[in-house]
Amino acid sequence: MADARTHKLTPCKPVELAAFPTTSDPYWSDSRDAAEDAFRALRKRFIELQRRFYAAHEQKLLVVLQAMDAGGKDGAIRNITRGANPQGVRVESFKAPSSADLARDYLWRVHKAVPPTGHITIFNRSHYGDVLVVRVENLVPEDQWQQRYDQINDFERMLSETGTHILKFYLHISNDEQRRRLQSRADEPDKNWKLVPADLEKRAQWDDYQVAYQDALARCTTDWAPWYVIPADQKWYRNLAIMQVIVDRLETIDPQYPPSKFDVSGLIIP
Ligand code: ATP
Ligand code: MG
Repeated sequence: MADARTHKLTPCKPVELAAFPTTSDPYWSDSRDAAEDAFRALRKRFIELQRRFYAAHEQKLLVVLQAMDAGGKDGAIRNITRGANPQGVRVESFKAPSSADLARDYLWRVHKAVPPTGHITIFNRSHYGDVLVVRVENLVPEDQWQQRYDQINDFERMLSETGTHILKFYLHISNDEQRRRLQSRADEPDKNWKLVPADLEKRAQWDDYQVAYQDALARCTTDWAPWYVIPADQKWYRNLAIMQVIVDRLETIDPQYPPSKFDVSGLIIP
């Protein structure tokens, strides 16, 4: 099987997104059905490992998803979490900050949303907005957002040192694929609600966003919180690649059901 770990970035290396594929590994290119089968098998394994992770109640897993508009964050979340125990899996979405958020430091709302013990939390957008949209739209002065890369690395290192595994995925779509997806949001009545004027404004700033992403990916890839650049033009490959990385990490953690809390051998409940 092709290995999604190849999408992992190396710390301290510049990133040129144009050089990264937006379509699947050649291994899978003619085998969508096989990829979907592999995905379902991995999801089954994920569901089992998630039960153990929750029961073991020892560690935390934070999955960060970032993408350009229509990059497929919602679809990835829907597919990956299907069948998992909602009690141990949370999704946290980060939209524009509220006035209460803005009155604090930018990590305040993020820190409140990190996974508690035994939980898997998926960030649909994240603190990376604070070096992406904030940078491109000049929402804070440059000297402030420049400091944030190191601050984010420190924050993530603290989370990691206190028992949180962190996996970060950039869903990499091509400019053409974004156009097709936004067009279908305009054309199909049941998708109209997803299209907002800001999507068009941001699409016009595509190059600025790619540059901002390149910096975030290069400067915030660390041993404790790696970024993966996932080819995301094909939804089935995107799902498979993300699932492989998550399951791989859970296999390494190898969570175990806790032992019984008292001697239950031969116990008959009256
Ligand atoms: P989709 O990709 O399906 O459209 P979405 O995540 O874009 O979903 P929206 O409600 O369309 O959801 O957009 C959320 C908005 O919140 C985005 O425009 C994003 O730029 C904005 N946002 C997120 N984080 C910040 C931040 N830190 N500062 C300012 N705006 C932010
Ligand atoms: Mg949007």
